[in-house]
Amino acid sequence: MRGWGSVAVGMGLTFFSAVAAAGTVAIDVGHYLERPGAISAYGVTEFEYNHALAAVLAARLASEGVPVRLIGHRGEMADLRARPREAEAAGAGFFLSIHHDSVKEEHLRPWNWNGRALRHAEGFAGFSLFVSRLNPRLDESRACASAIGAALRRAGLAVATHHGVSSAGVERPLADEANGVYFYDNLVVLKTATVPAVLLEAGVIVNRDEERDLASAARRALTADAVLQGLQQCGVAIAP
Ligand SMILES: [Zn+2]
Repeated sequence: MRGWGSVAVGMGLTFFSAVAAAGTVAIDVGHYLERPGAISAYGVTEFEYNHALAAVLAARLASEGVPVRLIGHRGEMADLRARPREAEAAGAGFFLSIHHDSVKEEHLRPWNWNGRALRHAEGFAGFSLFVSRLNPRLDESRACASAIGAALRRAGLAVATHHGVSSAGVERPLADEANGVYFYDNLVVLKTATVPAVLLEAGVIVNRDEERDLASAARRALTADAVLQGLQQCGVAIAP
């Protein structure tokens, strides 16, 4: 009886519901070592950023007694479908994929830093969240994405506004504009999960200013705190 809503069923069920609702949260480290995702303005792979933030978030949730399962943290997971499968086999009741954002090719500009030819983009910053309408638990996914987005905003972070159209020109409709939540139906980890699933782009690592912030312990802690608050609010992470 892991799931949402059961807390409200009645006093007699409160204890069991709280235990059941505090199911394992799967934290998915986006990308893998062989194909590590975007390269940041300062030449760091997205996988490294995802890995670092996932570790901070896992520790934060665990410190509140929320069971956590890291997925893909060894950098080995090439098969996207295996990620939710592994999470669910481990008893996860919620799937959160951690990513860091880039921008379309045409917005990237060459620059040199420390002798390396790299690329960066000005004018793009902030977090965004994605849910898939092909996930069977869309309402819960969306509620949690909105709650996380609201908590990130309360923490002072800005919503990224550059995701309205994909690089292929496909529109990505907004699920919750104020809180930075978009529909991205074909994201494999979201649509193949059978538990509620959300993807977080924590910030834009090709923006030189935002990358410096994203690399800081303070920003990671602030993001982890906000995700915890969001998950508590949507009923996923309930303190024992
Ligand atoms: Zn990514």
